[in-house]
Amino acid sequence: METQRDDLDYEIDGLVVKVNSTTLQDEFGTTQKAPRWAVAYKYPARQATTRVLAITVQVGRTGALTPVANLEPVLLAGTTVSRATLHNADEIKRLGVRTGDWVLIEKGGEVIPKVLKVIESKRTGDEKRFRMPKKCPVCGGEISRLEGEVVARCVAADCAAQLMGRLLHFASRRAMRIEGLGESLVDQMVEKKIVRDAGDLYKLTLEEIAGLERMAKKSAENLLTQIEASKSRDLANLIYALGIRHVGDRTAAILAGHFGSLETLAEASEAALDDIPEISFTVAQSVRGWFDDAGNVDLCRRLQAAGVRTKIEQRDQAAVDERFAGKQFVLTGTLPGYTRDEARALVESRGGRVASSVSKKTDYVIAGDEAGSKLDKATTLGVTVLDEAAFKGMLG
Ligand SMILES: [Zn+2]
Repeated sequence: METQRDDLDYEIDGLVVKVNSTTLQDEFGTTQKAPRWAVAYKYPARQATTRVLAITVQVGRTGALTPVANLEPVLLAGTTVSRATLHNADEIKRLGVRTGDWVLIEKGGEVIPKVLKVIESKRTGDEKRFRMPKKCPVCGGEISRLEGEVVARCVAADCAAQLMGRLLHFASRRAMRIEGLGESLVDQMVEKKIVRDAGDLYKLTLEEIAGLERMAKKSAENLLTQIEASKSRDLANLIYALGIRHVGDRTAAILAGHFGSLETLAEASEAALDDIPEISFTVAQSVRGWFDDAGNVDLCRRLQAAGVRTKIEQRDQAAVDERFAGKQFVLTGTLPGYTRDEARALVESRGGRVASSVSKKTDYVIAGDEAGSKLDKATTLGVTVLDEAAFKGMLG
């Protein structure tokens, strides 16, 4: 496989070799931690040397400043690499990297390669030290680095880079999925001040969009259609789209399933949030803090006024209390009708929880084709096992 690795249409960082026959799989069994009928191999990370042409600073949607090494393009693991993240000021200090340095870079499982070390023997004396900027490189706002935190942030409320980041996040696939709303468009909308936050997206007119560069009337119409369609995304997508710190798409789904509407979530106390098993205190604090901000409350109000769906569907809400709420599910095997993620979302949107292993606490095991040891364990423990048809029936 290693000799074919570069000819594949996709990237691999290792292989899993499995025994095909389920009968043999049962015979092999499992250890405490892993099946004995599958072995994972990981290739060593690929490395290359190149030069650091410049070190620039990016500003993300939370205002976080990330230094990035712009590299002399080099071929690594089948792709041309021209950038590597340097994470933060501490990391730059640790590496001692300067502009003009030759560096060893590595590409592991992550998409973005990292700088491993500086090749000091190649230094000429012309290398330049890097200092984190004192002001935001995009908006000129103040930079704050809290005690004990490694990340420096721009704290300006009207920072264009943060706004761009928030809008792109809002429109992203797992959030409100507004196709066609890419970087260059968002950049122009922010620049021309026709969009100040996500709420303004729903007030855009055809003329405004068509007036942007490289925007034909047809594509402007398509974008408006996409924006309109995004109003009916699920509540979980909306909560994720808001970009609340520490709230990823899984947490957003849990919050949506638990509270059922944006309004109820906005009123939830820190204690009520913290009481949810999967929600940590950090997340509870972050969510409460976000909804305590007057600007955010206003954003929610305007999204709702624009017709964005802020409740989970009636059908789902009715089901929440009954058979799913508070119950623990384990998924195993392949369900022909659903992907793992879909099945998980269906359970969670109804207030159920999905665990990765079967225990006495498990209420239901949903077993698809080729269900393995989890099914055996469920049978041993006397846990109710549902096949796809039974699961479908339960979903109504
Ligand atoms: Zn800024």
